[in-house]
Amino acid sequence: MPADGLTLLISQGELRSAVSELARQIDRDYASTGLVLVCVLKGATIFTSDLLRELQASVHRLEFLRASSYGSGTESSGSVRVESSVAEGAIAGRHVLIVDDIADTGHTFVAVTKFLGAMGPASLRYCTLLDKPDRREVDVQYDYVGFTIPNHFVVGYGMDMDERYRGLPAVYYFPNP
Ligand code: 5GP
Ligand code: MG
Repeated sequence: MPADGLTLLISQGELRSAVSELARQIDRDYASTGLVLVCVLKGATIFTSDLLRELQASVHRLEFLRASSYGSGTESSGSVRVESSVAEGAIAGRHVLIVDDIADTGHTFVAVTKFLGAMGPASLRYCTLLDKPDRREVDVQYDYVGFTIPNHFVVGYGMDMDERYRGLPAVYYFPNP
């Protein structure tokens, strides 16, 4: 077990099964159209790379953008900055699937969807590995969800706390003292 009092929430095996199941659903939905994956940096990198390797549907492009909420620590704030070098030509007329690590307040969903929506995709859906519905501040609908979890701050499998713990192979949380 990792140090620092981290407690296991989702094991490697559970992550593998969930990623396979999500890939099956996505394959079913995009079999005839193919899709463009847009990974939300940085937390979704490991999830995206595992998902990409499970997908059978044709992935026309892999793109990245960065979404960061102003503020620091473990609380996300309402305003989200999107930084991206995604070309409009990569999105226009394509079926686009955003891949993110955690659905929390929902502000990232709104910002990223607005940003990519302005580029004229044929369709736009949102996939998140984890969902913390108790924390939602805006009414948004995620299309694909791996796990619904309680309101813990989680790390591992790409997710950080102040840039640490991304390399842990499973998902952990800090129990409330
Ligand atoms: P929101 O839905 O609040 O706009 O933001 C979701 C983003 O906040 C996630 O993509 C992630 O970057 C960050 N976030 C929210 N909850 C957690 C958490 O428990 N752990 C980590 N590492 N990041 C989180
Ligand atoms: Mg994020």
